[in-house]
Amino acid sequence: MADPKGFLKVTERELPARRPIPVRIMDWKEVYEPGDSAVLRRQAGRCMDCGIPFCHKGCPLGNLIPEWNDLMWRGEGRSAIERLHATNNFPEFTGRLCPAPCESSCVLGINQPAVTIKQVEVSIIDDAFANGWVEPEPPARLTGKTVAVVGSGPAGLAAAQQLTRAGHTVAVYERDDRIGGLLRYGIPDFKMEKRHLESRLRQMQMEGTRFRAGVEIGTDLSWSDLRARYDAVVVATGATVPRDLPIPGRDLAGVHFAMEYLVESNKVVAGDQVANQIHAEGKHVIVIGGGDTGADCIGTAHRQGALSVTNLAIGKEPPASRPDHQPWPMTPTIFEMQSAHEEGGERTFLASTVEFLANDAGEVRALRVAETEYRDGTRVPKSGTEREIPADLVLIAMGFTGPERTALEHQLGTVFTGRGNVERTDDYQTTAPGVFVAGDAGRGQSLIVWAIAEGRAAAAAVDEYLMGGTNLPAPVRPRDVAIGLQSA
Ligand SMILES: Cc1cc2nc3c(=O)[nH]c(=O)nc-3n(C[C@H](O)[C@H](O)[C@H](O)COP(=O)(O)OP(=O)(O)OC[C@H]3O[C@@H](n4cnc5c(N)ncnc54)[C@H](O)[C@@H]3O)c2cc1C
Ligand code: SF4
Repeated sequence: MADPKGFLKVTERELPARRPIPVRIMDWKEVYEPGDSAVLRRQAGRCMDCGIPFCHKGCPLGNLIPEWNDLMWRGEGRSAIERLHATNNFPEFTGRLCPAPCESSCVLGINQPAVTIKQVEVSIIDDAFANGWVEPEPPARLTGKTVAVVGSGPAGLAAAQQLTRAGHTVAVYERDDRIGGLLRYGIPDFKMEKRHLESRLRQMQMEGTRFRAGVEIGTDLSWSDLRARYDAVVVATGATVPRDLPIPGRDLAGVHFAMEYLVESNKVVAGDQVANQIHAEGKHVIVIGGGDTGADCIGTAHRQGALSVTNLAIGKEPPASRPDHQPWPMTPTIFEMQSAHEEGGERTFLASTVEFLANDAGEVRALRVAETEYRDGTRVPKSGTEREIPADLVLIAMGFTGPERTALEHQLGTVFTGRGNVERTDDYQTTAPGVFVAGDAGRGQSLIVWAIAEGRAAAAAVDEYLMGGTNLPAPVRPRDVAIGLQSA
């Protein structure tokens, strides 16, 4: 424990400032100002190095948080990144994007605000990249075994890095034109600039991982041919099927799934030309759905110059602080203010959508909504409360129902669960021999930290399958959830 009295001397959380709103919505750069090293050291020094650090269990990766807090406090950045990399392949992603269930279970959180664990994490890895401490770790020898990883999101990348380092020859197949999954084309730059992804991909390439972008397995190459070519296959294709909103007027021009909108925006920010881009400039925008995807649409619409942005959620507004029925160390459902929410727009809870309304040109002109009524456990529009909200662009961000299944079912005979995810055993094997699954494709829509943890664990299972034993770590099992945290 670095500073035995740290938590007594510093009782508040301190985080880097967010850039002024009028400035940051003029560009796509990350919203946070660079961190101050003295503040970080103070925060790391608040860690009590508890006998039983619940944050380890709160983090699906089992990050060794008290150890790197201590090393950070001592100014031993190089050792800190070694401890952090021991459990997390990509702290630059989680340190920016994770909702930090570790902080909900921080023991200090019982009677004080939790240690700013996520901020310490991102500072450790940013310092490490800046100092050249993130070096390729190629395997000492090759096993002669080959593995195909399909999907290049955080689950696929984590599995690929682990398997490459274990000596297997790994190729990552991605149908998009660039590698990265939702880190590339879902999450906007104002949450994570793509240079962080590029730095990590460079390291992976130098370690020997091969990337094959622009190849869709199931279409360009069948799943069965892929299986025949490789000793093992990892399915890390994500949960890409969006939940639809089948109300009258759904097919009007101007009503889109959130991912149609975000992908195009991310491509343009990356320098691509997109013909007829779905764009918010000068429009009244409605975002339906209150999660990460919805927040990313709100931030993107403001940067594109929307006239107004209205965010609708069907459920009740969550409480501002931890409710009694979700005590420490559970991850509570509380009212969340992401950076995008600060930037403007209106958030409406208990809003039930009824119908999209058209203008004469067949374009959406408004959305009819009503208050939500809870009737026999279901949420329905309350009669007599209907009103219209003007809309030129509507983005449906209501989550994802699971992975795409047709090609996997037909070409590999893959079985799916009742919830629509790829069926798997406790060691990540699908019903097809030698085919494993990791991340959202097996877990359902989840988080980056779970995807990385599953990628690591699935890599251990593949290594065991190929070699009869493994030294790779397996931080989670398919049915695990962190303390009180449902994986959605
Ligand atoms: C807009 C948005 C914002 C989010 N923000 C956050 C956040 O801030 N924090 C957080 O923790 N989580 C966030 N999430 C959730 C998080 O991004 C996912 O849980 C995570 O990316 C899942 O990783 P994955 O590797 O399983 O799949 P994905 O990241 O979805 O990657 C799957 C990849 O597989 C590719 N693929 C699919 N089928 C094929 C095929 N047949 N052949 C070749 N390639 C294929 C896809 O093109 C895709 O690139 C967000 C999700 C969305 C949609
Ligand atoms: S990965 Fe997420 S849960 Fe784990 S230590 Fe980092 S912020 Fe916390």
